[in-house]
Amino acid sequence: MTTRTITILGATGSVGASTLDLVRRERDKWRVETLTANCQAQELAALALEFGAELAVVADPSCLPELREALAGSGIEALGGADALVEAAARPADLTLAAIVGCAGLAPTMAAIEQGNTVALANKEALVSAGDVMTAAVARHGTTLLPVDSEHNAIFQCLAGNDPAHVRSITLTASGGPFREWNHQQLAAATPAQAVRHPNWSMGAKISVDSATMFNKGLELIEAHHLFPVGLEKLRIVIHPQSVVHSMVEFRDGSTLAQLGPSDMRVPIASCLAWPARMDTPCEPLDLAALGELTFRAPDEDRFPATRLCRQAAEQGGAAPAVLNAANEIAVAAFLSGQTAFTRIAVMVEELIGRYAPAAPVSLGDVIAIDAEARRRAHELLELA
Ligand code: NDP
Repeated sequence: MTTRTITILGATGSVGASTLDLVRRERDKWRVETLTANCQAQELAALALEFGAELAVVADPSCLPELREALAGSGIEALGGADALVEAAARPADLTLAAIVGCAGLAPTMAAIEQGNTVALANKEALVSAGDVMTAAVARHGTTLLPVDSEHNAIFQCLAGNDPAHVRSITLTASGGPFREWNHQQLAAATPAQAVRHPNWSMGAKISVDSATMFNKGLELIEAHHLFPVGLEKLRIVIHPQSVVHSMVEFRDGSTLAQLGPSDMRVPIASCLAWPARMDTPCEPLDLAALGELTFRAPDEDRFPATRLCRQAAEQGGAAPAVLNAANEIAVAAFLSGQTAFTRIAVMVEELIGRYAPAAPVSLGDVIAIDAEARRRAHELLELA
């Protein structure tokens, strides 16, 4: 049996935990190269020890002493800081799982792409912000990019063996989040605790809020635009509260292929880990008779303007998606800390896109600079409110 090496960027998060759960079940097939976190040093050290990692990295350098202490005598290398994170991501690995949350994952993900590692991408914000800069790097370095996001993984599976020229449309499904049935008044009073309580999926706080605002689906629309370049006009969104159909592709002859599965990230992650083969997962098989019905309806962009804003940013191209993403990250953090209202997230994003329109980025440095300036201006907007 051949052993493959894996690096997990964002090992202490929700996607990181699901990935390590699958690796744990097939320990003889994997050698863990690097595991990273932001600052959860104890959690990271415990994982590095359990999986016998070569290297553990915390992005926040102030957390390195704690990591070093926890790994003392183990022989596992411990590093800290943004540069160390990028250097670690640039080390060769058969598979790099990019699962850092937010644009913070951009530079390390790009480093893995430039190394030519196969990259399983969960970190959608990185692709949304860097867009053409990232897809150009993928092409230049001959990197294989596997989509982890359940919708994009579904589309990837539906497209397998088909010519993209025959695609009539691609439909991303959305659960609609916990506030799917809420009116404007209720949305204005939504609390962080309510927003992170997703009806179908168990995820990190930021993506849970994105799911509640529908920015998650909007970001996914931009992500799909880069991963499957069939034309924005062919990309659609439909609300599907049961989260069983993960997305679908319609072809010119009228055939629609869909991928179905339980609402468990281990299914799309397993598809990436084993690709192009398949592996077992502990997930319960679908019981369609027990589910009874699968329903679909159009999104309501009046209550949830995020998908409209994201589509417009994708149409605009250039720096717009990076500005949108940065504004959303700052607004979500402000909402989670009780600093701003739920409905202000989309308002703030729209305001910043209207006020800040830098030239299109052509390099990773440009994207990072646009992201930093957009964050600074988003903080200003928060203070003005
Ligand atoms: P979590 O918040 O659960 O985990 C985030 C991970 O990133 C943690 O390991 C965290 O470290 C690390 N991290 C946070 N901030 C930084 C930083 N500034 N620098 C370096 N590392 C950092 O997120 P999720 O696992 O939910 O999501 C990860 C990505 O996957 C997101 O882009 C999300 O959109 C995407 N995704 C998630 C899905 C899910 O089901 N959760 C589904 C589809 C996509 P620490 O623990 O130390 O804070």
